[in-house]
Amino acid sequence: MKKNVLIIGAGKSGSACARLLFKKGFSVFVSDKKDKKEIAKNLSPQIKILSEEEAVKKASLFSFAVKSPGLKSDNPVIISLLKASVPIRSELETALNFSKTKNLIMITGTNGKTTTTALCAFIMSKALKNKGKAYACGNIGYPVSLAVAKARENDFLVIEASSYQLEDSRRISPLSCAILNITPDHIEHHGSLKSYVRAKEKIFKFQNKDQFCILNREDKNLILSSRECPSKVLFFSLKPFKGDGAYLKNKKIFFHMGGKDFYCSTPKFLIGNHNIQNAMAAALCAISCKAKISDVKKAFSSFKGIEHRIEFVRKIKGVSYYNDSKATNVDSVLIALKALGKKKNIWLILGGRDKMAPYSPLLPLIKKYVKTVLTVGEAAEKIEKTFSGSVKLISAKDIFRACDIANNQAKKGDIVLLSPACASYDQFSNFEERGKKFKDYVLRVKA
Ligand code: ADP
Repeated sequence: MKKNVLIIGAGKSGSACARLLFKKGFSVFVSDKKDKKEIAKNLSPQIKILSEEEAVKKASLFSFAVKSPGLKSDNPVIISLLKASVPIRSELETALNFSKTKNLIMITGTNGKTTTTALCAFIMSKALKNKGKAYACGNIGYPVSLAVAKARENDFLVIEASSYQLEDSRRISPLSCAILNITPDHIEHHGSLKSYVRAKEKIFKFQNKDQFCILNREDKNLILSSRECPSKVLFFSLKPFKGDGAYLKNKKIFFHMGGKDFYCSTPKFLIGNHNIQNAMAAALCAISCKAKISDVKKAFSSFKGIEHRIEFVRKIKGVSYYNDSKATNVDSVLIALKALGKKKNIWLILGGRDKMAPYSPLLPLIKKYVKTVLTVGEAAEKIEKTFSGSVKLISAKDIFRACDIANNQAKKGDIVLLSPACASYDQFSNFEERGKKFKDYVLRVKA
């Protein structure tokens, strides 16, 4: 008889997992709060859709359940499954159980996951040539369940893993993994910094001594984590150090691994020290999976970066425009100002939906590098109050008017940077739409 499985949450990864399990011969049920007709659009008709109430009633009939990453333990379906002793797994772990390839690279961290995952997959695709493919998957927006359905034995899965997915997973044992950094985030979900760190540490917990774990040497939490690590630890750092790993010296990346030394230039199109850290981590993951330094060099010279992250758009009359729409909090704006700041020549577009955090931590770098702050969206007034008297402020209302003002007033050599420190929902459906519309507008300006 077919086993019954329940997928809780019909998002992108839940729906992909439902389809994978159906193909593998399970009798698949999906439960969600959303309208049944909406959910059915993405699923084959044999997959049964349940309301939350129906799923609660049927809980004891399932062999196991797969949980959408964000769901909390107070969800009624989860409570009833736990009562009925039904195992609850992550989409990541479930999908990997059906993977033909055991070639796994996994990347986590508070910031930089997407960039590092994409770059690592790019290096691996250079290394594999026509012998296999490298799939960037997971949190990056391409569910692991989809990658697993396609990947063959020689292919590599390069997985961006969130702390939620790791928390819900048991024995995953990647050939190589990286934790990029740990700063307090998602604490409301995990309960404390300690349990957030524990969730991230699951990435290496089931590795063996022949596998590799790549850690940031400048992160205190990760130095502590390294002591618990069962695999070979490789560190990366912006400062030289002795031991295996990678560091930055004289603007070059030096590697020391297994008694060998080699070096390369930093990635051509990635801006800022944070991206050099991401690049070192990506390269170490790839090299520990047998990529050569020549593959790393090829990838570093042609990797174009990720959309909406300090993305160069265009130069108009000597003024450079950058789209950093992904910067939806103050920390990310600090990163962008550090990366682009050389002198006081930045026109910074700030604002959108306020995130209830103060903007004042931006003040020192704004004083140093920003010529004018152009405020937009709902948060404009709060931003103006914070910076009044410290920097020239112009109330631009929206990002398009901000572009027009900058285009009229900026001088050759200046930079116009959309790095809003706010969510986009007051004027756009998401940060991607905000970034795309900004780019379209900039690209249409007559030079
Ligand atoms: P994630 O997938 O973890 O959200 P991204 O690669 O999408 O990370 O980058 C998102 C933002 O995080 C960037 O725009 C930048 O502001 C910041 N960031 C990226 N890499 C790092 C890093 N290594 N350290 C600190 N901040 C970073």
